Amino acid sequence: MSLTVDTPNGPFTLARECGGCTLCCKVMRVDEPLHKPLNVWCGHCVLGKGCGIHESRPPVCRNFHCVWLMDASLGPEWHPERSHMVLWLDLDGRRLNVNVDESHPDAWRGEPYYSQLKRLASMALYRDGQVVVFVGASTFVILPNRHVPLGDLAADEYIFIERLADGGWDARKVDETQAEELRRSGRA
Ligand code: SF4
Ligand code: SF4
Repeated sequence: MSLTVDTPNGPFTLARECGGCTLCCKVMRVDEPLHKPLNVWCGHCVLGKGCGIHESRPPVCRNFHCVWLMDASLGPEWHPERSHMVLWLDLDGRRLNVNVDESHPDAWRGEPYYSQLKRLASMALYRDGQVVVFVGASTFVILPNRHVPLGDLAADEYIFIERLADGGWDARKVDETQAEELRRSGRA
C-alpha cells in the first residue's frame, strides 16, 4: 500500500516503504531532541525492524523520507542497506546529499554508484543543484567527471560550484562573507 506523507511542498505519495531498513537511524545526525551524532545508532532503533518508539518518534524522524522511498526510478542497488548510503534532499530539493555509512566509507566510490552519482551531478548542475557525499566529517562534491574533496564543512561554510571557462566545473568552500559577495555579484 502506498503511503502519502506531508512535505513542505504538499502531500507526496511514497514509492516504497522502509520495510526492515533502519540505516538512516545510524547515518543521519538527529539534533533535537535526540542529540544523536552522525554514524551512531540511535538507542531506539531495533535493527531489522524499525523504530522502537514509532508512535512517539520525534517530528524530525517522522518527517524524514529518504530518496529511496520517494523515487521509484532508483534501481535495487540503491536500497540503503545494500548501497550503505542514504540519499536525501535539502535546499528545497536542490541538493542531493549522500550520507555514507562510515563502516563502508568507500561505498560511493565503487560501481555501480560512482558513475550514477556523476550522472546525477551532471543533471543537477544544469538546474543549479548539487550532489554532495558525506563520509563522517569528510565532504566530497560530485562533478560530472570527478569529485572534489572539501574536508570538514563547518556550519558557517557553504559549497560553491562554478562553471569554468573551459566548460568544466570546480567546487570549493566559501564562508558567509564570500557567499554574500558571490550572491551580490550574481554568481551564486
Ligand atoms: S534509510 Fe530510507 S528506507 Fe531506510 S529506514 Fe531510513 S527512510 Fe526508510
Ligand atoms: S527515534 Fe526512531 S526513527 Fe528516530 S532515529 Fe531513533 S530509531 Fe530512528
